[in-house]
Amino acid sequence: MTANKPYLMKLALCLFLLSFLINPLQAEEYTTEDLNEEAILALAWVQTAAEFKALAHQAFNIAKLRWDMDQGGGKKAVVVDLDETVMDNSPFNSGLIGKDYGYGNKRWKEWCLDESATAIPGAIDFLNHVANTGGTIFYLSNRKAQPEKDMDLLPATMNNLKALGFPQITKDNMLLRTGPSNKQPRRDSITAQGYRIVLLLGDNLNDFSTEFKADTVDQRAAAVEAQKEMFGDKFIMLPNPIYGDWEAAVYGGGAWYKKTAKERSDMRIDILRKFSFSD
Ligand SMILES: [Mg+2]
Repeated sequence: MTANKPYLMKLALCLFLLSFLINPLQAEEYTTEDLNEEAILALAWVQTAAEFKALAHQAFNIAKLRWDMDQGGGKKAVVVDLDETVMDNSPFNSGLIGKDYGYGNKRWKEWCLDESATAIPGAIDFLNHVANTGGTIFYLSNRKAQPEKDMDLLPATMNNLKALGFPQITKDNMLLRTGPSNKQPRRDSITAQGYRIVLLLGDNLNDFSTEFKADTVDQRAAAVEAQKEMFGDKFIMLPNPIYGDWEAAVYGGGAWYKKTAKERSDMRIDILRKFSFSD
């Protein structure tokens, strides 16, 4: 056994030296916690900038103008998204700072069941105006109403909206997600009931039409250009710099959620147009 002693000492020395090579690599590993921190400035803007509040008021002021201008008859409807359109969930995202996990059903459910989302400025007044002038409001959201998957966010969402003072919070007016995420079948169900959709409000292009469904940044930009006259007319857009399909497009769409934190961070940097300084 003594013959093995020099060998074991060499092995221990090698492992000791190797640890110096491995440790810096481990320290440099880019984690989900690091990625979460990239949202800090966007979150600070949403939560503190008066410009954000002004943009929200601008959106709902234009919506009111368009609603009041509408001369068409029939049963009039307004279709409105929930998250980051009329409900402010930014504390959910800022709660992820310092954590090494991202968005997921478990965490999102915990936030939604807390019923503590606040209203986006201008949203309650606008929707009460619609309700008081003969309109029907459909709250069309991809919050899940899937009790079979232990993911029923409908009761808590209704409680949260009612407590804030939103009108027409009934099960018939709540079109949460019970199947696929595509919102078009739910929009179609509204027109199938004989309603004429006067306005759609959202923070994501998929809140308006499937024609905006595209994987890349360029394709999405082209789709908006093709329908540019619709914005401020039938489509009312709210700003969301925290998340959305725009982020998926930065990663090229597809199965982007399978990309690592490091890959996502690198792709965010790579996609930027940059000035080259002289020094
Ligand atoms: Mg939304």
